[in-house]
Amino acid sequence: MAATSASGSLERVICRVLLVAGVVFLAGCAVGERPTLTGEGLDDVESLDGGAVAATVGAGAEPATTVADDPALDDLAALGDAPAVVVTSTGVVVPVLGRSEAGYAVRTPCGNDAEIVWGQPIGPVDVVLDPGHGGDEQGALGPSGQTEAEVNLDIARRAAVALEQRGFSVALTRTADYRITIPNRAAIANRLAPGALISIHHNSPSPDISEERSTPGTEVYTQVASEDSTRLGGLVYEDVVAALSVFDAEWASRTDAGVLRVVNDSGQDAYGIVRRPEAPAVLVELAYLSNPTEAVVIGTGEYRQAAAEAIANALARFLSTADVGAGFVAEPRLFNPSADTGGSDGCVDPLLS
Ligand SMILES: [Zn+2]
Repeated sequence: MAATSASGSLERVICRVLLVAGVVFLAGCAVGERPTLTGEGLDDVESLDGGAVAATVGAGAEPATTVADDPALDDLAALGDAPAVVVTSTGVVVPVLGRSEAGYAVRTPCGNDAEIVWGQPIGPVDVVLDPGHGGDEQGALGPSGQTEAEVNLDIARRAAVALEQRGFSVALTRTADYRITIPNRAAIANRLAPGALISIHHNSPSPDISEERSTPGTEVYTQVASEDSTRLGGLVYEDVVAALSVFDAEWASRTDAGVLRVVNDSGQDAYGIVRRPEAPAVLVELAYLSNPTEAVVIGTGEYRQAAAEAIANALARFLSTADVGAGFVAEPRLFNPSADTGGSDGCVDPLLS
């Protein structure tokens, strides 16, 4: 999607919330003018292995060791009889902090306090899908201006439809083009108590990309301390690579692409959206949006549908079979995040009502 010269403010988000037989399904979200793609959020950031700097693109995955915790999000006792998560009238998913005189006190996507008079309670759900980036943090950029945030959200929506058709309940952490902090994404997931979480991303340049090859350089980051996360990662890798390999592209890849753990110096999961969720969680970098030949493929509905159905199939296998998957890389990758993304500095909230 082409960049616009619009101001940074988001237009009103319009969504429908469909509740079908107890299954939560968010659909029909439309966003007005996109925020500008220049300026904050796209500053130089350290690449995935902390080595060379990749200019003008996001790191491909939000680190969170530099992002402050938000203890109020963990204080479920303060909820009383209020629901843990609601969808606002504008379609934004927000954690509830408690009841207020007007309705609910909630945490906004940027991490601010707000009150809303109405919200549709949701959860628990079988699956949480987390579309990476959004708002002024658009992530990786394609050569023609495609943004990772838009592609990730489109695929998450399609995967939600595919999962719902299989009978699984699904919620998205982000339902339109706005920024949402990592602690907020994780809190929504933890409060919805899913059986699994997948954070959906597309990759950007890296210093040690190997020669282009005939199969995708898909990477799936799993939780170091969770065998379930490892199994989920194997299934996601197996289904995604099989689904994407049919497309005609010269795929970029790192030499250690596969199912792997990305850890910091302390041995913790480097990425907050992998480390913070209580459920088995993985972060998938489906393909390289920054690679021109891949960007052409990623721009097609066929690719996005195939990626979405592969994610849905992997989740269905994880939740209802003992399948193990493939693509496991023994050696963890070391990464100490320092990029200031996934936090609340300069964040502009979407309208909640
Ligand atoms: Zn990303």
